[in-house]
Amino acid sequence: MCAAGTLLRDVFGFDSFRPGQEEIVEAVVRGENVLAIMPTGGGKSLCFQLPALVRDGVTVVISPLIALMRDQVRALREAGVEAGALTSGNTDEENAAVWDAVETGRLKLLYIAPERLSSGAALGMLRRIGVGLIAVDEAHCVSQWGHDFRPDYLRIGDLRRALNVPLAAFTATADAETRDEIVNRLFDGQVPNTFLHGFDRPNIHLAFAAKDSPRRQILDFAAARKGQSGIVYCGTRAKTESIAAALGQDGHLAIHYHGGMDPEARRSAETRFQQEDGMVVVATVAFGMGIDKPDIRWVAHADLPKSIEAYYQEIGRAGRDGAPAETLTLFGPDDIRLRRSQIDEGLAPPERRVADHARLNALLGLAEALRCRRQSLLEYFGETNVSCGNCDLCDTPADVFDGTTAVRKALSAALRTGEWFGSGHLIDILLGNETDKVRERGHDTLPTFGVGQEYSRRQWQVIFRQMMGRDLLRPDPDRHGGLRMTDDALPLLKGEATIELRQDSIRKADRRPAAKTLVNEEDAPLLSALKAKRRALAEAARVPAYVIFNDRTLIEMAEKRPCSVDEMARIGGVGAKKLASYGDAFLEIINGEAEKMHPTRRKLAGREAGSLYDELLAVQADLARGPKGTDKPLSCSASLLAKVASLRPKDQASLNQLLGEKRADRFGAAFLDVLREAS
Ligand code: ADP
Ligand code: ZN
Repeated sequence: MCAAGTLLRDVFGFDSFRPGQEEIVEAVVRGENVLAIMPTGGGKSLCFQLPALVRDGVTVVISPLIALMRDQVRALREAGVEAGALTSGNTDEENAAVWDAVETGRLKLLYIAPERLSSGAALGMLRRIGVGLIAVDEAHCVSQWGHDFRPDYLRIGDLRRALNVPLAAFTATADAETRDEIVNRLFDGQVPNTFLHGFDRPNIHLAFAAKDSPRRQILDFAAARKGQSGIVYCGTRAKTESIAAALGQDGHLAIHYHGGMDPEARRSAETRFQQEDGMVVVATVAFGMGIDKPDIRWVAHADLPKSIEAYYQEIGRAGRDGAPAETLTLFGPDDIRLRRSQIDEGLAPPERRVADHARLNALLGLAEALRCRRQSLLEYFGETNVSCGNCDLCDTPADVFDGTTAVRKALSAALRTGEWFGSGHLIDILLGNETDKVRERGHDTLPTFGVGQEYSRRQWQVIFRQMMGRDLLRPDPDRHGGLRMTDDALPLLKGEATIELRQDSIRKADRRPAAKTLVNEEDAPLLSALKAKRRALAEAARVPAYVIFNDRTLIEMAEKRPCSVDEMARIGGVGAKKLASYGDAFLEIINGEAEKMHPTRRKLAGREAGSLYDELLAVQADLARGPKGTDKPLSCSASLLAKVASLRPKDQASLNQLLGEKRADRFGAAFLDVLREAS
């Protein structure tokens, strides 16, 4: 196995690379300039952390968020990697520890905040310490037109030139404009080796639901996932507070978060969410950037997000660890009206507004989709041939009907009343309701009056919602939200096109859905016990729980139930350092007691040398008193056996060298047999 593969397993505890990681790691190890575009949760950090261990010198990592840097450094140190951060938030001791590691040449990764680059001292320091690679996280922060622009990122180009070392840049933002800006500003226009990786996040389940009683819908969704970390996104600050309170009453550990809170309160909410297990935060979109919690198990939208990009980014905060995560996005006619009016009333120039409507349409199209949501979502990002099986419409196909006639009737009601009215009044006309408003305006004499009695009021509401969602009717802000027909509806009106609509997608929830678990019923109690242990260890070490082991690792432990240190080493996420620190504690939970094992043998856990060691030990025991059982007892020390198992000498001569003549005489032939068998 290559050096990178060995490190992947031994240090990071992963069996295999995620899609795309290996090529990126190889290019960075070779010292090429690299630009890698990977979706959130795709595993970008590994793509510079692993090469940092393979390459000579220090890897400087530039990252915009101090909290994230500190988390990564903590996680690396847990895995036994020498890493440090220089940030304005450091204590003197922390700074001293970093310098000490630098001076003694032990430091492999040095995280620095971009602000530091503005001081001349930083450059001098970086020159002295022998930097071999620059890694830039969130590279889109160099884009002056993006929403995350960081002026200090513009200094990174100078740094690269001054140090004259390769640079690897990472981002989740894929659009071509941003990419060009990164190439210009970080690489002086020399196109680096570029990797563009898929946007699919297959472990995230996608679901939308029309608003019925939205508060109840959110509370039910959360109730089925009690004890799991989640985010509820709301459209208003007031709603974050009321839903958080309701969740609290339902027995959740829930807090609210919005831009109106003072910075101190916001920071403390972020820290608590990051650190505490199973917490729910109810937030406006102000919450998210700066949250790097890999074990968020669900994201719910109590209101429709503002665009398909925002939706993708917000749900993407769930399930970064790769374990299953769930989402639910609620939407209704009011959301559509609100989002449209925000665009229309905003200050953006007209072309921009047209583009914003299109991005909202893309999201509404997703909300009203008739087939697989993942395919619609990824199609928007330019990906085809997507397989799914993990969205509500793959679970239960939509119940569709030919809505052409219904849509024509609705359009006609709108047109004959001058496109001045909202859906409520139009539905009254279609149903033939003689309300005051209908009579006053003489709408009871229209040919459309009463032509829609085959549907109930509720069904018409569903039809109008879908017409708005598919942008056939748009509320006009200049007409107090009166619905106007769009050009897209013309072919339908003229009889040149047909349209499929969904039956009422509002299903009455019979009762609270059963709790969802991450593992099957049988393994659930063990998983809770493992989580409790993890929480205790995390609290003692004052780190977030996932720094000990992430959810995915605990799920695998609960399912595979390793009963030896060797088996434990094969669980994804259990590297050598973590095995040494926590292996026994978790084995004890699984098996009632920890395995007793010689420390030397323990170091070989999970490797082929481990099983070789066991076989050598067995043949040695057979020969302890010689072939006839009459000689003086003789044995090799554990460390000698470990050497034989690791170095795998091929002949008697090398065994002589390793073991000395006396022992080589007694055990040599038998050992060589064992080694030959194994190769
Ligand atoms: P991002 O691309 O968003 O920066 P991270 O680097 O934070 O993603 O990685 C997301 C999660 O995936 C982390 O919990 C990390 O431990 C995990 N991860 C990364 N690479 C692998 C891998 N090869 N196998 C299993 N898990 C991985
Ligand atoms: Zn699907």
